Amino acid sequence: MSHPVDNAVSAVRTYIEQHRAAFLDDLAEWLRIPSVSAQPAHATDVHRSADWLAAQLKETGFPTAEVWPTAGAPAVFAEWPSGDAAAPTVLVYGHHDVQPAAIEDGWHSDPFEPVVREGRLYARGAADDKGQVFFHTLGVRAHLAATGRTAPAVNLKLLIEGEEESGSPHFRALVEEHAERLAADAVIVSDTGMWSEDTPTVCTGMRGLAECEIRLHGPDQDIHSGSFGGAVPNPATAVARLVAALHDEHARVAVPGFYDGVIELTERERALLAELPFDEAQWLRTAKSHAAHGEAGHTTLERIWARPTAEVNGIGGGYQGPGSKTIIPSSAMVKLSFRLVAGQDPDHVEQAVRAWTAEQVPAGIRCEITFRPATRPCLTPLDHPALRSVVRAMGRAFEKPVRFTREGGSGPAADLQEVLGAPVLFLGISVPSDGWHAPDEKVELDLLLKGAETSAHLWGDLAEHWRRAP
Ligand SMILES: [Zn+2]
Repeated sequence: MSHPVDNAVSAVRTYIEQHRAAFLDDLAEWLRIPSVSAQPAHATDVHRSADWLAAQLKETGFPTAEVWPTAGAPAVFAEWPSGDAAAPTVLVYGHHDVQPAAIEDGWHSDPFEPVVREGRLYARGAADDKGQVFFHTLGVRAHLAATGRTAPAVNLKLLIEGEEESGSPHFRALVEEHAERLAADAVIVSDTGMWSEDTPTVCTGMRGLAECEIRLHGPDQDIHSGSFGGAVPNPATAVARLVAALHDEHARVAVPGFYDGVIELTERERALLAELPFDEAQWLRTAKSHAAHGEAGHTTLERIWARPTAEVNGIGGGYQGPGSKTIIPSSAMVKLSFRLVAGQDPDHVEQAVRAWTAEQVPAGIRCEITFRPATRPCLTPLDHPALRSVVRAMGRAFEKPVRFTREGGSGPAADLQEVLGAPVLFLGISVPSDGWHAPDEKVELDLLLKGAETSAHLWGDLAEHWRRAP
């Protein structure tokens, strides 16, 4: 007799195989809508994309599927209650807008006319993010078919925004406005990837971001270096000293208080990251850099995923034209960005940077600092029940050990974590070669269907292993 898990795996796989063609036809129809949020000429297409998705989600079986307007492009919300009072509520996040694309950019086929070549579906949005949103529709239907249920085992919600490729300017307000309807025990972000075709991975966290511009003002105008040089403070020198003092000799950020609260990697997490088949030489080629450099005592993967950083993004001041101009410039500037990790509070980092800068700057130099709105970091512990479910579901679909990654970049998912107070998990099947934002964006069809399988296994697993307190 076969094990019930095996039966579930084959029932899901059979359903997905039987519905694969129709699923791909529907996805192609969606991919033909050029929902480019950055281009005003495509504003109606973004609306059309939202309407199309809402209709499709209704057809999938979601009793509720609505288009939510924002001050910019609309989002889509859908909800399917499980009818089980102790079942957790899960919110899936993704986006239906896409990056701009034109065949002249170097595409081998029309970016908005999907084609399959050698098991890959080429179209703008195939991986980022329509394909990864859409596999959940096939996944939930396979879940119902395989279990004989009429509603998902968890309370399933979807929030698919329309401005992610434009920096999600209205996302936070949208989430705050609808916080009650969006309430969830966990957020599943399907707008990410995995390590490679052969190594399925779950991303457990994302760094946050704080950014500022520091402007140092010296004399009220550029002044003669012969008449005044050596006897008054030079703001360009002050900026250079500031930047030089930003890191210590171990490449650690030297701003007092910067590391306050940082959640350090555990030995187990470090061991798990070290298991990934990471090729540093290959990574350096991708980085177009000629050496690796960073905080002492940490590997490259730890540095980009789990350590906070300070980077100089731009620096300037004084005369930069041809020939010489012997002045003491009136002002100089530097733009800094800080990647933050779990445990760090962006407000605290801002205060620390302000206090440190004020201390570095000599008398006679006035300092002006502007911070942009920050993005918080997020991290889900390895032993969180929802994370365990994602790993098991992915393991069943891929039939390979599932490893862990983190994301070094920052994104709007952090707003969901903060406003809804729910942990954020990342379930993505895209691979680095998918060409996000680039010509010939594609998704591997096998992996796309594995995504649907994962989704099909996930809802039952979550409901089984994670009961809500009555
Ligand atoms: Zn995306």
